[in-house]
Amino acid sequence: MFDAAAFEARQQREGVMLDYSDPTDALAAPMRARIIDTFFAAYLRERADFHPQAPSRARIVIDPGYEGVAFVGDGDGAATITINPGWLARHPDDVDLVTHEAMHIVQGYPSYANERVPGWLVEGIADYARDLYGRENAAAGWALPTVVKDGQQFDTGYRVTGAFLKWSEAQHPGLVKALDGALRDGRYTPALWEARTGLALPALWAAYVQAR
Ligand SMILES: [Zn+2]
Repeated sequence: MFDAAAFEARQQREGVMLDYSDPTDALAAPMRARIIDTFFAAYLRERADFHPQAPSRARIVIDPGYEGVAFVGDGDGAATITINPGWLARHPDDVDLVTHEAMHIVQGYPSYANERVPGWLVEGIADYARDLYGRENAAAGWALPTVVKDGQQFDTGYRVTGAFLKWSEAQHPGLVKALDGALRDGRYTPALWEARTGLALPALWAAYVQAR
């Protein structure tokens, strides 16, 4: 069906091609520009730093029918970030959700949420990347936590794990890149933490809690 309102755009920067598709023209031009700029700013650096062989083609689809915030999947053979425009309408400064999702494209792990690719670590690395490469986190009121709350653990995921990764990386430079590479190659086991830091994962977490 021909939809007169659909907005499509293609942009290429530094060897990466992005197809942007907004079938209902849900996002106004200024938000569209921020999303596209945020994607390139994040993805080009995340890709260069973590996985230069990550896809050189990606898609962003604006889908009002999606009720979550955003996710990455494989649509039409290209890594695709689907975004709920309703979320952006309610949280207009949360554009660095794209920075988190772009890191998932760079990760490109062979599976998700199992022993070899724990979901908490995948999401922790994505939020670690959002903190590192995001440009509007402060405006969104988004930050990695500086305190550990009761009940939180290394495998709480997202920002909690992201903050733990940031602290651990500062103590042991190269740790996050090593974890990322092992996850991608199917070599990840918890023993990798001890091999890289000298402490088993629970002990490293305990040291982190102590430092906080
Ligand atoms: Zn995620």
